[in-house]
Amino acid sequence: HRASISRSSHLPAVTTDAMDVNVLGNIELAEEVVSVRDHGGDGIGLLRTEFLYLSRSNFPSEAELFEQYREVLELMAPAPVTFRTLDINGDKAIAYTLSPEEANPALGLRAIRFCLRKKEVFKTQLRAILRAAAYGNAQIMFPMISCLEEVLEARQLLRDCAEELALEKQRHNPDMPVGIMIEVPSAVVMADVLAREVDFFSIGTNDLVQYLLAIDRGNPQVAHLYNSLNPAVLRMIKRVVDEAEKAGISVAMCGEMAGDPFHLPVLLGLGIRELSMNPQSIPAIKNMIRHMESHDCRTFTEGLLQKSHTYQVMEAISEKYGKFM
Ligand code: PEP
Ligand code: MG
Repeated sequence: HRASISRSSHLPAVTTDAMDVNVLGNIELAEEVVSVRDHGGDGIGLLRTEFLYLSRSNFPSEAELFEQYREVLELMAPAPVTFRTLDINGDKAIAYTLSPEEANPALGLRAIRFCLRKKEVFKTQLRAILRAAAYGNAQIMFPMISCLEEVLEARQLLRDCAEELALEKQRHNPDMPVGIMIEVPSAVVMADVLAREVDFFSIGTNDLVQYLLAIDRGNPQVAHLYNSLNPAVLRMIKRVVDEAEKAGISVAMCGEMAGDPFHLPVLLGLGIRELSMNPQSIPAIKNMIRHMESHDCRTFTEGLLQKSHTYQVMEAISEKYGKFM
C-alpha cells in the first residue's frame, strides 16, 4: 500500500469529481527543496525564512540571502515558492537581536511587528527576495498580520525596495504576488478589508488556533485543549475562505492542520484548494485526495459547522471518512 502511495505521489491530486488540489511543501532551508520534489510537491507553499537567521552571530547580508533564495527558486522552477518574511521572536528567538526580554513573547515584538520596527533588517530581506524573484516563480507573504496598517506599511516598504533596485539597475522582479498569513483572529474578522490589499491569503493554523483559543502552542499543560477541529476554528476558516472567494483572491493553508489526513475532508469541504505541509506528508495526502469527492465533502462540512462540540466534529469525521485513513 505504501509503495503504491509513493509511486502515485508525482501525479496531480484530483478528487473523484475532478477538482484539482495543489499540494505543496513547507521548508526551512534550501537543502530541503529536494525532499519536496521527491515527495511529489507542487511547489513550496511556505519557506520559513527565519531559519537562515538562526544559529549565527549576526544578521545575514543581502548577498547571502539572495544566493540562498535564488538557489531555492532555481531548484523549484517552474513551480512556485512562497517566501514568508522573517518571523522571529515569539517561539523563534535569535540571540543577537538584543531585544528586551518580554513577559509574553507570543504577544510581543514578533514577525511583522519586529520587521516594521527594524526596517533595515526587513529591507535587506525584501531586496534579496525581489532580486531572487527574477530567477523563478516567487511569491511573498507577511506573517502575523493583525491589522490593515501593517499590510499597507509592509507593501510600501516592498515598493520602496523595488524602486531602489530599479535606480541601481539591479535585476529584480517587482511584480510577484503579495499575500499575508492569516494567523491572528483580528485578521479573520477583518478578512474582507485585508483581501482588497493582497493577492492571496495563507492560513497559519498553528498560530491561529493558539491565538483564537488562547492556548500556548508549546505548553504541554494545555496541549490537550489545543484542537484544530474546535468548532470555533472551523468557523474562522470558513470566514476566511468565504471572504477570499468574494474578493476573488486565492486562499491556501500552511499550518500543521493542512498535512493531517483526518482534517482533509473538512478542509476540502470548507473550500481550501491549496495545502502546504511537511514534505513527508505529501504522498499520503495526495493519495487521499484522489479518493475524496469534493461535493460530498462540502455537504458533510455544512453539517459539521452546525456542531457545538469538538468531540462531535471528530466523531462525525471518523464515522464517515475513517475508512480512508
Ligand atoms: C502557522 O502559524 O500555522 C505557521 C504555518 O507558521 P509557524 O508555524 O512558522 O508559526
Ligand atoms: Mg505562525
